[in-house]
Amino acid sequence: MNDILPGNSAAWRHVERVIADTCVAYGYQEIRPPLLERTELFKRSIGEQTDIVEKEMYTFVDNNGESVTLRPEATASCVRAGVEHGLLHNRQAKLWYLGPMFRHEKPQKGRYRQFHQFGIEALGWPGPDADAELQMFAARLFDSLGVRSVKLEINTLGSDGCRAAYRDALHGYLSRYRNDLDEDSQRRLDRNPLRILDSKDEKTRALLTDAPRLADFLDDDAVARFDRLRAYLDTVGIEYHVNDRLVRGLDYYTSIVFEWVTDRLGAQGAVCAGGRYDGLVEQLGGRATPAAGFALGIERLLELVAVEGREIPVDACDVFIASLGDAAELAGARLAESLRSGGVNVLVNLGGGGFKKQLKRADASGARFAVILGDDEVAAQSASVKDLRGDGGQASVSFDDLAAHLRRALPNAPAARAAANG
Ligand code: ATP
Ligand code: MG
Repeated sequence: MNDILPGNSAAWRHVERVIADTCVAYGYQEIRPPLLERTELFKRSIGEQTDIVEKEMYTFVDNNGESVTLRPEATASCVRAGVEHGLLHNRQAKLWYLGPMFRHEKPQKGRYRQFHQFGIEALGWPGPDADAELQMFAARLFDSLGVRSVKLEINTLGSDGCRAAYRDALHGYLSRYRNDLDEDSQRRLDRNPLRILDSKDEKTRALLTDAPRLADFLDDDAVARFDRLRAYLDTVGIEYHVNDRLVRGLDYYTSIVFEWVTDRLGAQGAVCAGGRYDGLVEQLGGRATPAAGFALGIERLLELVAVEGREIPVDACDVFIASLGDAAELAGARLAESLRSGGVNVLVNLGGGGFKKQLKRADASGARFAVILGDDEVAAQSASVKDLRGDGGQASVSFDDLAAHLRRALPNAPAARAAANG
């Protein structure tokens, strides 16, 4: 579990802002479910025989003797909330969330125990137009952040019927190698053999090379849906690769599944993943509702933005006000407030000190300009403005002209910020 330190939080906010803007662009509305849910919710949705439920959940019994779990993902919460509050009652909903998730995994680069996911859920649309729009959303988001290295992989798990036939075939094949499978896969073989396709064990993966392929079991409807998705992706120019081994690690997926992967993050290459989960709403007590969505790992996305060398805005301090003497300190506070009203970011020297010390602080603050005030300046109602980053020049500017002067000298930042803040 990580602290997000001051040096990184501006990058987080930048990414969060781009995400929120993209959500508005596609008509998604934010939902903020609680971090804690009844354990039952995750067991019923994610599936008992998955890595998450078998070994990754932070589960405890509360004072009422009820088993609760820190959410390992948020799709189940979105569906629960949708059913509970009637958001899906005779209507459709496009929901998005962003926040911490908890999984007790072996921590390593790109894999943490508290991490953050952004996700969207399109509830009420049967697809494949809705499936395709998810990919347009993801592609636009990556593009807005300047991320180029991610590639889309898609697959279809087919309809319930073909999946059942495939499950039997896969079970038949893998049963012959029962003892060669990794421990998890042995346990899952009889109840949930599809899970084995998601195994990360090398020996198991090697055995899967000659296993029956899901693609050979698809019925006409599944093929038609998949083709339609591909037609949409071709039309909008989103490149993709069909990976018929892609099944995803959660049980609730039906039909189309996908991942956006990169080769720039080492072993943890999956950045965004999701698919269609048409059975989940009903399974959690709602009326049968088609649904599809994805979840995206913010830590991996931020790492990718950094690795790809994209520039991330930092929190800029425009002006540092140094003042000496009681009258100058009061004048400094008053000037700072009026500058801030005009959209300039101002750091005021707090706690006194001589000019030399104050100017050192000004330098360390990263401010572009220092505004210097002493008794003489107060008497003349004009400040000394020192350029800390450029030529180091100093000018005398009357209090009345100060805001305009600084805004001229700081062409992009304050005006742009003022506009952005509405
Ligand atoms: P993986 O195969 O890497 O464990 P997953 O299939 O468990 O991923 P999902 O549950 O689909 O992942 O979560 C969607 C996204 O959330 C992942 O693609 C990844 O970017 C991110 N993610 C998942 N688990 C973690 C984690 N422990 N730490 C950081 N990010 C994570
Ligand atoms: Mg995982």
